[in-house]
Amino acid sequence: MNKTALVTGSSRGIGRAIAEYFGKNGYNVVVNYIKNAEKARETVDIINGYSRAIAVQADVSKEEDVKRMLDKAKLEFGKIDVIVNNAGICRYELTDMTTADTFGRIQDVNVCGIHNVVKNILPDMLSKGEGNIINIASIWGVKGSSMEAAYSASKFAVVGYTNALAREVGRSGIRVNSISPGVIATDMLQGIEEETIESLREEIALGRIGEPEDIAKVAYFLASDMSAYVTGQNIVVDGGFI
Ligand code: NAP
Repeated sequence: MNKTALVTGSSRGIGRAIAEYFGKNGYNVVVNYIKNAEKARETVDIINGYSRAIAVQADVSKEEDVKRMLDKAKLEFGKIDVIVNNAGICRYELTDMTTADTFGRIQDVNVCGIHNVVKNILPDMLSKGEGNIINIASIWGVKGSSMEAAYSASKFAVVGYTNALAREVGRSGIRVNSISPGVIATDMLQGIEEETIESLREEIALGRIGEPEDIAKVAYFLASDMSAYVTGQNIVVDGGFI
């Protein structure tokens, strides 16, 4: 039986690349999105050329949505072996302009969203004695980013959550790691001025902006037995930026 991966926020960007990469390598994939049903459907259609996929709408910040998504996934595929908590939002603005609502929403999606999935999948993984959780953090969860204090706070939290959870569940056969992408060409870069992106590029040792597939390959490695002795780690994938 094929393994199953659930990738949150996989209608676009990094999540979509991860979903497609896993699908092309034989995984059944649960493609999650919040609004963009059409993009999710495109992702599913691509994966269905290789393995099997379904799309499930769910706002990860809402526990009821997450429970419904997990139920649907288990009904379709029986079990979930790998969770990639990728869904995330950011806001680039001066910190004194950041409202409490915006600050809260960023934590709700980026941090509580991960916890909602973890809390509701852990009982299954614990009873099976195996499981693999990969959280997508950011380089701004390793080093702060000017004008992204709310986002940086959320991503530092993701790195901490990952390390703590790995210690809690390691002896139950569950590995938990995070990936901190650098600057990756997705819709998330929209709204950042071309000049700013160019100056970021100049600071990258490999001299290029990352592609979503650069992250997908590392996620696949973390899900595989090639990384059997890796847990609680935050893997920075930034082309040599920080
Ligand atoms: P993106 O292109 O903006 O895509 C975001 C994805 O998340 C979409 O599939 C979106 O669904 C989904 N989503 C947003 N809010 C959601 C929610 N509440 N519930 C469920 N799904 C939700 O983002 P990206 O650049 O690929 O980023 C993916 C992850 O990598 C994020 O955690 C981000 O913080 C992290 N990251 C990105 C970069 C970068 O340079 N791009 C760098 C470091 C870290 P819809 O399509 O339905 O809106």
